[in-house]
Amino acid sequence: MINSIYFQICSLFYMVMLIFVYFSKPRFRSEENKIYILMMIFNAIGLVLDITSIFTIINMDRIPIINMIVTKMYLVYLLAWVTLFTVYTLLVCNKNGNEKIIKKGLNITKVFMILFIVFSIMLFILPLQYYHKGEEIYSYGISATISYVIGGIYIFICLVSVIKNIKNIRKVKCLPLLAYIVMFPLILSIQATTPSILLVTSTESFITFLMYFTIENPDMKLINELDIAKNQAEKANQAKSEFLSSMSHEIRTPLNAIVGFSQALLEEELPNTAKEEVKDIVMASDSLLEIINGILDISKIEANKIEIINSKYEFREIFDNLVILTKARMGDKPLDFRITYDDSIPAILYGDYTRVKQIILNILTNSVKYTKEGFIDFRVSSLIKGDICRLIISVEDSGIGIKQENIPKLFSKFERLDLDKNATIEGTGLGLAITKKLVELMHGTIVVQSVYGKGSKFTISIDQGIISREKEVTPKKEEKVIPKQIDLSSKRIMIVDDNKINLKVAVRLLESYKAQIECVESGFECLDKIKKKENYDLILMDDMMPKMSGVETLKKLKEIEGFHIKVIALTANAIAGMKEKYLSDGFDDYLAKPIDKEELSKLVIKYLT
Ligand code: ADP
Repeated sequence: MINSIYFQICSLFYMVMLIFVYFSKPRFRSEENKIYILMMIFNAIGLVLDITSIFTIINMDRIPIINMIVTKMYLVYLLAWVTLFTVYTLLVCNKNGNEKIIKKGLNITKVFMILFIVFSIMLFILPLQYYHKGEEIYSYGISATISYVIGGIYIFICLVSVIKNIKNIRKVKCLPLLAYIVMFPLILSIQATTPSILLVTSTESFITFLMYFTIENPDMKLINELDIAKNQAEKANQAKSEFLSSMSHEIRTPLNAIVGFSQALLEEELPNTAKEEVKDIVMASDSLLEIINGILDISKIEANKIEIINSKYEFREIFDNLVILTKARMGDKPLDFRITYDDSIPAILYGDYTRVKQIILNILTNSVKYTKEGFIDFRVSSLIKGDICRLIISVEDSGIGIKQENIPKLFSKFERLDLDKNATIEGTGLGLAITKKLVELMHGTIVVQSVYGKGSKFTISIDQGIISREKEVTPKKEEKVIPKQIDLSSKRIMIVDDNKINLKVAVRLLESYKAQIECVESGFECLDKIKKKENYDLILMDDMMPKMSGVETLKKLKEIEGFHIKVIALTANAIAGMKEKYLSDGFDDYLAKPIDKEELSKLVIKYLT
């Protein structure tokens, strides 16, 4: 028995620490917390009484009254703790947060307090005997038995209440309840059969300790508040990205008119100065479009709405296209553009080539923008492991370079560096922020090395799947050359768009083909015409229309028997990945607004010649 004192001493040490930790933090005034404070304090007192009683029982011949008071007080403690835990369980089981139940909770407390007082008096009055033989010392008798019986009844009440209300109890609260329900009957039966092993108080300490992690302490409250704040921030971010997305759509519509009409004007006979000005309008609109796309991209990335869509692609086709686009950007800048591809790069890869293209184009475009003369060295090599190909892409330039202290800011959004030097170079400071996020989404890395005034080197590495090391031998697609004048006078095209200006732009851009064009302003009108068996060779359909969207209209069109007309989605909803979405919706092709004359020509030729 003396040996089992160590349990109590350890438990007392932990309980004092727990009380200290609990009171050193801000607390909440809740019924549950009040009960918990009492449970901790009572348990500490109980442990002291338990330890003291061992000594008083050993010396009971010399201090019988003190021994009696200490052991009876210990029994009262046992009753108090079990009562508190039962009240706690009933409160937790009933907690739905509404007034009525809290009131009910208070009544429960009152009832149990009265019972506690009655039972405590009984424990004090009823006799208690002591057994002392050699090392074995313990108390027994009616008083002790009653405290065990009441303990048993209370455990039963807890068990029934937990089973009845299992759905109402928050999961986190279940742990101490479970420990109590499982451990206590066990401990009580050990205690009843082998009274010299004193485990009850330490078990209560253990349960009190477990409860600390489940009660409404400030940490939990803080976590809840953080959760709420996080949800609000996510909602605000969502609202922001929706706003940006609809703004981008709204801006694209007037921009469509500006780009469309100025492209059409460029084909007219105009005085030289006017032609130059129209070219400037086209260029300015292109930059505006780039800015809108950048803002839309970053907001989508931040709202976690960008998905990586993998598919197989031909390495050379994608990278050669990047080279063509970069050369177009270079114009007549005196730059030596060197390109080196490693022979080991597999011909057919698997990955999100739209995003790969976007990443590399950003870096290449920057090197063109920030290099006045000298060279741009574009290298792609690969590391192959199993069926994964790590593409290592580096772009080195002899441009203005980046100051060492500016490198950490490079990938922050809207951050443009060295503005006194760069003021004349167009940019938003979004490109590299988007690039980095996309690289991270693909689990890749991007590294910058730069010497200010000498040049920079960006190295990206991304893993792509390998589909085939050799190029598939497919008959080369015959590239249709875009003739300047094509006569499509026998063809009928229907344009569906709720916006009159958009319709005018499309008509103006298609004018030169002399096709018969019919404009309708809604999906309903389009359906009407097709149902009346009017024949068309091509339909250009806006998606974002009120009442019936383009996607819905297409669905209904496809339900019409014998419908076979090619339908092209014509939309300002133009972020990367949208083409794939519209194709999977059933459209035959996709054209982003503002309409690019060349793209439009390609489609018209593809479907009408
Ligand atoms: P933007 O080019 O639209 O300003 P980016 O995010 O692409 O935005 O680039 C951020 C900044 O990093 C640029 O404003 C420029 O100061 C610097 N920068 C990027 N690439 C280079 C480069 N190749 N050489 C020198 N400076 C660069």
